[in-house]
Amino acid sequence: MKEERLCITARAVVTMDDAYHLYEPGYVIVCGDVIKAVGSNKPASTEYDTLMEMPDHLLMPGLINAHTHTPMVLTRGMCEGVSLFTMDGFLNTLRRYEAKADADMASLTTGVSCAEMIRTGTTCFVDQYFYADRIYDVVDRAGLRAVIAYGIVELGSEEARKRELGFATQFLEQCKGHKLIKAWIGPHAFFVDNSEELIAEEIRLAKQYDAGFHIHFATSNEENDYCSEHYGCTAIEKMKELGILEIPILAAHSITISDEDIKKMADYPFYPVMAPSAAMRSGFAAAPVKEMRAAGVHVLLGTDNVCNSNSYDLFREMATAGKLIIHTSHDVNAIEPKEIVRMATLEAANAIGLGDKTGSLEVGKQADLIALDLKDIGWGPFAGQDWYTQLVYSVSGHSVTHSMVGGAWLMKDSELLTLDYAKEVDRLEQANKELLRRLAADN
Ligand SMILES: [Zn+2]
Repeated sequence: MKEERLCITARAVVTMDDAYHLYEPGYVIVCGDVIKAVGSNKPASTEYDTLMEMPDHLLMPGLINAHTHTPMVLTRGMCEGVSLFTMDGFLNTLRRYEAKADADMASLTTGVSCAEMIRTGTTCFVDQYFYADRIYDVVDRAGLRAVIAYGIVELGSEEARKRELGFATQFLEQCKGHKLIKAWIGPHAFFVDNSEELIAEEIRLAKQYDAGFHIHFATSNEENDYCSEHYGCTAIEKMKELGILEIPILAAHSITISDEDIKKMADYPFYPVMAPSAAMRSGFAAAPVKEMRAAGVHVLLGTDNVCNSNSYDLFREMATAGKLIIHTSHDVNAIEPKEIVRMATLEAANAIGLGDKTGSLEVGKQADLIALDLKDIGWGPFAGQDWYTQLVYSVSGHSVTHSMVGGAWLMKDSELLTLDYAKEVDRLEQANKELLRRLAADN
């Protein structure tokens, strides 16, 4: 059967391709799951079967959130008064909650995370958590594209090492051949809670399954202190020696990295992920993004868990990132708005090995796109400013009305099509009440 060719026209098409092509007005033709054409004005009627005219909308690639822990929406807003980037803050809140949570709760909560990402323009995300198989089920139902890293914490326990490696292998097998979901490995933090022996096994698995690592790194100086004491070098130097740096690594939050180590990172597929809201709410410094970018390191953008970030809206996060980079570098030209959009689109796609599939609107790529309503508040004047400035600093994910992943609509006219948000919120409330009951029973 011949697949329908859908032509979507819009007031503007922001492609985010290498050359930042932008069409005003423009169109995208989708056939099956693939983009067949992108261009300006409107194509001849012989080029398509169905026409969808959106004269008051902007089309662009869906955003990619490069650092999430989706089930943790379970405790959103429940970590006030502590810094989650300190061990003390972590142990007194999140760790206490996680000890009482279970796999069923991950099934009940992840839907809200997925729904909010779709609603605010994210079409792909990179997760890291326990219960990866439960996250997989919900993401599959939502129709989002995702890289899900099976979270591994060992903390010196040989039993935990064997068990977690077994689960990680099972999960890598489970995701084989899935059209939208890829499995990665999520050592929570090298050296801090993943030993050298475990890291060697994780490298072997990553090579066997062509997977990357999604880790936390250099949030404080813990890794460097450990490596300095045990090996007499920095964490980056030790990672190089162990062969870790040959494997793609998404490293949240990469804050305490020296200029010397930044230069070394540039030679490897090492991608720091800044989560500006989480870092700022935790009272921590910003990652040295200007210095990293100057050294040729590609920095990505994520929301982290939403316990204290507290939103999945990556448009808001782009604004926060831009302001933080400019603020900390005292340089108003430290980063351009279009470069911030690229951090959350094409650069993220390249980092997770999906640069040939998503991250930009280009012929041959998968149709992962969003539409934003230019009649919503915050836009304009249209003649005097560029689209990237408006996307990063003027509007939010609230303007997103349509979302498509791999040619399938996930949202149309602001209505979610794969998830029922009210039902997902009910599930989240149910899980949250049960968690609070278990915590109270302990006191
Ligand atoms: Zn995190």
